[in-house]
Amino acid sequence: MKSFRKELWFEVPTRRAFINITPEVEACLHESGIKEGLVLVNAMHITASVFINDDESGLHHDYDVWLEKLAPHEPVSQYRHNVGEDNADAHMKRQIMGREVVVAVTDGRLDFGTWERIFYGEFDGRRRKRALVKIIGE
Ligand code: ZN
Repeated sequence: MKSFRKELWFEVPTRRAFINITPEVEACLHESGIKEGLVLVNAMHITASVFINDDESGLHHDYDVWLEKLAPHEPVSQYRHNVGEDNADAHMKRQIMGREVVVAVTDGRLDFGTWERIFYGEFDGRRRKRALVKIIGE
């Protein structure tokens, strides 16, 4: 069995953003040489997510509005976590959007449903953060 590991780094200039990282994950898969197996992609921070959904800007706007209703950033004083920091909402948004995804690898390709793409969800940006790509198989 082969194994491959790589970190993808991000520095989002805004507090929140959704980034399609499917091309980077496909590049990792190509580099790994693995044809059959599994790829895991997970955020390595507790204020960011990795998830699979549609690459459609209206949906991403809707996610942002929905997440702000569930866990508004302001007022930061509403959260007990925000003692010396202001990112309690980002921890909650990450919890809803998830930590990781697993995708089957078949014949050297990500075995997606028709509209599935992999996204990095940033909820407390403006600093360097990373996601892990781990691929196992043969
Ligand atoms: Zn925090």
